Amino acid sequence: MKLLYGALVFFLFPSQALGRNYIEVGKKVGGIKRFDPYAISSGRYVSSQTSDGLYLPVIIDLKTNTRTVLKKLHEYLKNSKDSGTLSYAEQLKLKLDGKWKKWYSSKIISFDGLNIVGLLHQGVSQGLNGNPSCKKCGATALKHKRTGKYYCPVCNRYLLPSSYLKIVDNYYLARVNLKSKKSETIKVEGSWQTGATDFRKKIVYIWKEKKIKSKRKRKIKILQIDFENMKKLSATEIDMPYRDKNGHLTVMLSRTGKYLVFFEYDEYSDTKKKTGYLSSPTGRALIINTSEMKSRKVEIPVTPYGFDIDESTNLLAVGSNQAGELWIINLIKGKTIKKIKIARGVFHMVFSRNYKYLYVFNKRTFDTYLWKNLKKTNSFKVSKLCNGVEKFLASEKMISFGDSGKAIIGVIKKSKYGPWGSSSFDDGFQILNLKE
Ligand SMILES: [Zn+2]
Repeated sequence: MKLLYGALVFFLFPSQALGRNYIEVGKKVGGIKRFDPYAISSGRYVSSQTSDGLYLPVIIDLKTNTRTVLKKLHEYLKNSKDSGTLSYAEQLKLKLDGKWKKWYSSKIISFDGLNIVGLLHQGVSQGLNGNPSCKKCGATALKHKRTGKYYCPVCNRYLLPSSYLKIVDNYYLARVNLKSKKSETIKVEGSWQTGATDFRKKIVYIWKEKKIKSKRKRKIKILQIDFENMKKLSATEIDMPYRDKNGHLTVMLSRTGKYLVFFEYDEYSDTKKKTGYLSSPTGRALIINTSEMKSRKVEIPVTPYGFDIDESTNLLAVGSNQAGELWIINLIKGKTIKKIKIARGVFHMVFSRNYKYLYVFNKRTFDTYLWKNLKKTNSFKVSKLCNGVEKFLASEKMISFGDSGKAIIGVIKKSKYGPWGSSSFDDGFQILNLKE
């Protein structure tokens, strides 16, 4: 009877009986200069840059494998003037008059097939209030007729332009309709970073960090922008542990936008002490429940590369690249409920569609764990991505869409010097299909 049952199972589910492939290598997308894909929709579109030296933004449709090359985002806007292309003397004149503007960078954050939403960073000069004074002797500086720069008539020398010119940051959230070419913008003063985009609610979270040294206080300010109605929503300020030196923060949004998480990480962590810069307290993640913007901080392992949230159980899985550990954290209680050893060098993590499996990507293997008991069910060697490659040289960049079972990694090339590989900057990316 047992034998018959086994034969039946084999007949009905040959892939399971033979040990199935949980990760299937999908198509390659080439012609992109840098491996810089960024998710701009939930599972369908990603953005990158062209390989022609102009580094124009490209939207890649993963469904149809088509690409749309765009102009630089500011060129779609009404006020697209960029002083950065002028000569030094012309730029200086504009700076002195407070009319200098330069577009530094832009990032596409959402695309719905018609509308691009992007965050653009602009530098603007502030005009002078009268003549500046010499820092050394206090005399009023005079404007040099030929060069336009200020000089001190007493010291007989130029003042450093940086001592009297002030450039401030502006951010713009812009929406461009690719068909009508109409654009709308919202200005956000100050220097912000892109956090995460909720494609369902059409909200982008941008953030900045504020440190008040004298008071040993550190805060994160988060601003929500509704890019459907193009308006700023509430801003939230949350205290973070004060650090003399802090690492960076990585941001994630859970699958349906329920949780927004900021992870403290420190590239220079000391694996022996397991603290690095992030001691007293050790590294924390700031967990924000986005429905009320209520938050709590939880302890996390060092170098948290690789994390995902199971929204159905409110559990966070977070891996440590250096310590080779997987921590499971209950977000309602704010407590770590389980720690297991995993391979070192983890750089990405994602749950399968129905939270049955947890995919853990490390520099040698991509491991599939059964989520209910954390048993490893499959190990995919990175040599399957590139012949002769046993491991990656560094933490690879990866993006994934758990709800559509896809992950994206750069096209891996073997090093000339040994069995190591890394994603090549000229070869675009590779799609991996994550089976459940
Ligand atoms: Zn002087």
